Amino acid sequence: MLYDSSRVFDDQLQALERDSRQFGTQGGALDFALLVDGLQAEREQGITIDVAYRFFGTRARSFIVADTPGHEQYTRNMATGASTAALAVLLVDARKGLLTQTRRHTRIVTMFGVQRLVLAVNKIDLVGFSEPVFASIAGEFTAFARECGFTDLCAIPTCAIHGDNVVARSQRMPWYSGPTLSQALEQTATTAEDPSLPFRLPVQSISRPSPDFRGYCGRIAAGRVQVGDEIRVQPSGVVTTVRTLHARNTAGAAAGESVLLTLDDDVDVSRGDLISAAGAPVEVADQFEATLLWMGERPLMPGRPYFLKIHTKEVSASVTDIKCRVDVNTGAKLAAKSLELNEIATVNLSTSEPVAFEPYAANRRLGAFILLDKQTADTVGAGMIQHALRRSTNVRWQHLYVDKASRAAQKYQKPLCLWFTGLSASGKSTIANLVERKLQADGRHTYLLDGDNIRHGLNRDLGFSEADRVENIRRVAEVARLMVDAGLIVLVSFISPFRAERRLARELMAPGEFVEIFVDTPLEECERRDPKGLYARARQGLVKNFTGLDSAYERPEAAELVLDTVSQNAAACADLVCRFISE
Ligand code: ADP
Repeated sequence: MLYDSSRVFDDQLQALERDSRQFGTQGGALDFALLVDGLQAEREQGITIDVAYRFFGTRARSFIVADTPGHEQYTRNMATGASTAALAVLLVDARKGLLTQTRRHTRIVTMFGVQRLVLAVNKIDLVGFSEPVFASIAGEFTAFARECGFTDLCAIPTCAIHGDNVVARSQRMPWYSGPTLSQALEQTATTAEDPSLPFRLPVQSISRPSPDFRGYCGRIAAGRVQVGDEIRVQPSGVVTTVRTLHARNTAGAAAGESVLLTLDDDVDVSRGDLISAAGAPVEVADQFEATLLWMGERPLMPGRPYFLKIHTKEVSASVTDIKCRVDVNTGAKLAAKSLELNEIATVNLSTSEPVAFEPYAANRRLGAFILLDKQTADTVGAGMIQHALRRSTNVRWQHLYVDKASRAAQKYQKPLCLWFTGLSASGKSTIANLVERKLQADGRHTYLLDGDNIRHGLNRDLGFSEADRVENIRRVAEVARLMVDAGLIVLVSFISPFRAERRLARELMAPGEFVEIFVDTPLEECERRDPKGLYARARQGLVKNFTGLDSAYERPEAAELVLDTVSQNAAACADLVCRFISE
């Protein structure tokens, strides 16, 4: 895959780009061996290299090659390479023609926005330099690539080992009059950023060397800017003008350049905001349809919150719906409840606050995002925004006159969510029941949400798979939030085995409102108590996905309260909870 060096924004790749320029001026001839070096190294070392970046130059220009492994289990590596590439070179063996993997690679590079495709029909010598063989493969490929949406493509018959049609035109295929591989690469339009595109600057940082100076720094994602331009800050929508421009050329700066701007009015701009041409702003939304590639070892769970990073903005986000998974080998659209490593899907996504963006097809930098695991900060997903969902602009918050504070004041209490988590039979319901009784006796207004009871009503459609457990907690957390908003002290007694969902619940409440209570009873003790006979049934294989046995329980790391039900009876545990909240 070839990198369009004008779009590369990663530091490492910028360094590569510099190197490649030096190399390009000294180098000269295109060395095809560079393209296969990576493969050779892999074979020798018996390993697969993630994505190997190489650079080379011809007299005309310089290139960065992202050499990516092609196996299905490395889909994420190929997608990483494709996401910043301008052109992809796919190789097929003339004896074998198009394979499943050729189709898979074409689909992946299309999805990740590569604009130009070159098919090298290699080992053409082994089919006697046959024009009909080449024409048949090229015809099949062209039809398939067009189906995938490609318009800019070409096929070249090559014999790489002898250099035919790689750099020099082959004498052995007089019937072929198209470009050689090096010509095809050189002809690829990349750096021509359309200067007529409207201005976009994602704000990377804010410079405040003195109280009366506020500068906004970032790399221009599209268009041009100069002093006096009218701009709009997004998402807020405030319009003002550029007062000063600090750039290589202070008369004006264009896409790809890093700049510092100051603005005429003292407006509120934060990191992650987008400064756009006032008359041509980008869209702002908090719900999107996107193509998502899952890169995490643990599957994607709809409803589970992740960090989403898009240009310079970081927000909390979750997948609200997997519309369909795409089988990259066949293109088939399949139903899915979760996504495994390397799977690609069309999803609906919801962010915790509005985001300024452009669809990926219009601007890669403003439409590409990654998802990070909230616990480990690992990158677990890479996606591209297709468009905002209409509901995102059609559904708005209704302003209410009566608020949480007044509802709570009427009840003479501070609303709280007491979240009991622990294994089945650890004692959550027993203790929560006692706590609620005490609170009520004290004149408090309460409600107890019990896992088993909620599963009879609101959550009766959910089972015990990981995806359903995530949804189970998401719903009860939302209900608990509404009850806290109503001014109640709400007690939640749910196993809630995963940290991510307990965190989701916590993040729905205001600081101090969420009290995580870990009912810390060892598995052996729970199994000994077994008041509902569930452990016995699970041990007999009659209950699947049982927490603590064949489904994980992630212990809280920073619960507000930990209850030891072995050394203290239920009443003593309830007292501890009441004392904690009254303090
Ligand atoms: P969970 O709601 O966590 O599934 P339950 O409260 O339904 O658990 O069941 C816990 C069982 O353990 C009950 O039978 C309860 O009487 C018993 N138990 C024994 N010691 C304690 C304790 N210290 N705290 C709470 N429950 C206890």
